[in-house]
Amino acid sequence: MARINENFLKLKAGYLFPEIARRVNAFSDAEPEKAIRLIRCGIGDVTEPLPPAARSAMKEAVDELGERESFRGYGPEQGYEFLRQAVAENAYAGLGVDADEIFVSDGSKCDTGNILDIFGGGQKIAITDPVYPVYVDTNVMAGNTGEGDDSGQFAGLVYLPCTAENDFTPALPEEKVDLIYLCYPNNPTGTVATAEQLEKWVDYARGNDAVILYDAAYEAYVQDAGLPRSIYEIRGARECAIEFRSFSKNGGFTGTRCAFIVIPKELTGSTAGGERVALHGLWARRHSTKFNGVSYPVQRAAEALFSVEGKTQIRNLVEHYMGNAALLKEACERCGLAVYGGEHSPYVWVRCPEGVDSWGMFDKMLQEAQVVVTPGAGFGAAGEGYFRISAFNSRENVEEVCARIAEVFG
Ligand SMILES: *Cc1c(COP(=O)(O)O)cnc(C)c1O
Repeated sequence: MARINENFLKLKAGYLFPEIARRVNAFSDAEPEKAIRLIRCGIGDVTEPLPPAARSAMKEAVDELGERESFRGYGPEQGYEFLRQAVAENAYAGLGVDADEIFVSDGSKCDTGNILDIFGGGQKIAITDPVYPVYVDTNVMAGNTGEGDDSGQFAGLVYLPCTAENDFTPALPEEKVDLIYLCYPNNPTGTVATAEQLEKWVDYARGNDAVILYDAAYEAYVQDAGLPRSIYEIRGARECAIEFRSFSKNGGFTGTRCAFIVIPKELTGSTAGGERVALHGLWARRHSTKFNGVSYPVQRAAEALFSVEGKTQIRNLVEHYMGNAALLKEACERCGLAVYGGEHSPYVWVRCPEGVDSWGMFDKMLQEAQVVVTPGAGFGAAGEGYFRISAFNSRENVEEVCARIAEVFG
């Protein structure tokens, strides 16, 4: 008898995005003439084309593969040296991250899920709420939680609420935890952490022998040079933090697929017997056993994002999306809605008007404005009472969305 991993059965069947799709489809069937107007500001996927620097590097690499002399087969599992070097020199200039501490992968979604392979069971795991659903669901699959309740919270996880009441700054856990997921700039709330706030987390982690899993997928959206883009800007973070980064949201690589993870050499975890073991070695073993590297043309494309032209093209993409975010934020504020985020991230996090819950707002935006947003409750219990508008769109669509928001709420 082939037994299944019964942890999967704990996951809610009606996961956020399928439920959104179901409601959008039902609306389209019921009101086909209105459905023509639909604008999607839901899923966090980029819309603008791939930067030219990445495209030409990729084409060149494909041509290299077409010649016997320059053909390449399997590459190093950890990523080509040229890309790891470019990351160390550009993304971590002055932060002391070595190319050998960088592992190239096909995405941060996979990395943030797969990282659990190198940690044991039975630990206390802290997760901010609302949150990128991958962190929660992969812990459920790994058996690190009990059953879920109606609000989507799973027994055994330590939830750290982030709401307007605490200025979206999670309090340090009251109990001792072993793993902490942080994401800044944050998806879904669009908020950022200051260096002082991250220092508190690094101090906590070092004091409690915990590891911070720091998701910096949106670092390119930080507009203020005084705000940290990497956890390694904080003293002591090399001893307690793993950082995840992706080319998805800066270089528009959501379909091209390339990301990386940083595991400092001095970062250790503990065996049950108290022996210290370097996490770098464990991840190197895991990565080279279960992964065979990102394709050569894609790694060349990622490398090209660090060229002078590539950096300019990324800046232009980020500026485009941040211009959208500013318009959306302003449109909501003009209608008297309380708006958060959108200043250092492509997400605008909006408080629902009195008496409407987040799925209620989703339905209202769909029915009355034909705009698809994401209900906050889908990101966790503390997301109830909010909805997320993504700035990943064309300017034309965003301007139209702003006009419709004014019509519905103005
Ligand atoms: C989009 C996103 C990522 C990037 O995922 P990829 O798999 O690299 O495309 C990672 N973390 C968060 C929170 C995201 O929103």
